Amino acid sequence: ANEKVKQLIDLHEQSVKLYHHILTNTKMGQPALDYLHNRGVTDEIIDTYQLGYAPGQRLLKPFFDQRKIDYQLLRKSGLFSEDQEGNLRDRFIDRVMYPIRTSSGQTIAFSGRLLTTNSDLPKYLNSPETEIFNKRKILFNLDLARSNIRSDQPAILFEGFMDVITAFQAGIKSGIASMGTSLTEQQIYDIKRITHHVIICYDGDTPGQKAIKRAIDAFGESSKLDIKIVTVPDGMDPDEFIRKKGGPAFQELIKHALAPIEFELNYLKKQYNLDSEVDQSHYITEAIKLISGLDSSISRDLYLNRLADEFSVDKQVLIQQLAPLTKRVP
Ligand code: ATP
Ligand code: MN
Ligand code: MN
Ligand code: MN
Repeated sequence: ANEKVKQLIDLHEQSVKLYHHILTNTKMGQPALDYLHNRGVTDEIIDTYQLGYAPGQRLLKPFFDQRKIDYQLLRKSGLFSEDQEGNLRDRFIDRVMYPIRTSSGQTIAFSGRLLTTNSDLPKYLNSPETEIFNKRKILFNLDLARSNIRSDQPAILFEGFMDVITAFQAGIKSGIASMGTSLTEQQIYDIKRITHHVIICYDGDTPGQKAIKRAIDAFGESSKLDIKIVTVPDGMDPDEFIRKKGGPAFQELIKHALAPIEFELNYLKKQYNLDSEVDQSHYITEAIKLISGLDSSISRDLYLNRLADEFSVDKQVLIQQLAPLTKRVP
């Protein structure tokens, strides 16, 4: 079984080289190279991440056939799709290829992106689950980010590969991303093993903001954890923000990252029209529920004070509402 894993990884390493060669050294790869350059990706980053291009014609199948690679091995690699007769075809066609590596740097899968989004095909296509790839267990870029996270930088959790890569290019090298699904227990476990300091920086659009709430819940309450939330302005994603405003501006966002309770109160506030007194009272009631979930009585007191000040209400009234919601004495 171990031998098989090695062979599957070897197929991926060979594919990385081939896709990368097509991207950087061939006429076929020129449109994809132009696409990446237009996005502002440098040649150095293309090299660091071994980005590649799967052309609009079959490439891997003839390549591996020439090398007499075993059919069953190819079949289990996830690099091919299979028709009813069992014929294998390249799975990735006309896509920019992002190698997915384990935390020890071995390539076990790919994600491929279309050059344009005016197509019915999915923008990103991932390798299927295989004997070596389980997307629930992988954090993109953990191999390159890990030493930075261990030394002094918080782990920055992004939504997309391009967010991680653009941040890296701007010198922010502790970014990681899950594979487009929400965070799994395994991924959280792996992050907590390295650091207790996490910055969640998902897209500024509505799905991104909703995903932040889920991620906060997934990490759970723990006095050991230091989680902060960055909200990227104007619905941008971090990649767009860094390209438009630059790395230092992004560092500035990180400096002003919010505690989870602050993010949740802001998020909640947006659901109400606070010009209306009815809405104000509903907001205050819901806000007290959020505050009641805080572990520390000092924090609960702090946010109750803020709430009382913000709406000029008597703090004693808020305390009365909070008391039955918390098992501890406030
Ligand atoms: P880009 O900037 O290249 O358009 P993105 O990272 O901003 O990509 P989003 O639409 O914000 O893309 O999606 C975030 C992440 O979700 C992607 O990086 C990818 O991992 C995953 N994803 C997005 N669309 C799909 C899809 N159609 N199929 C599978 N995964 C997807
Ligand atoms: Mn998004
Ligand atoms: Mn993007
Ligand atoms: Mn995005």
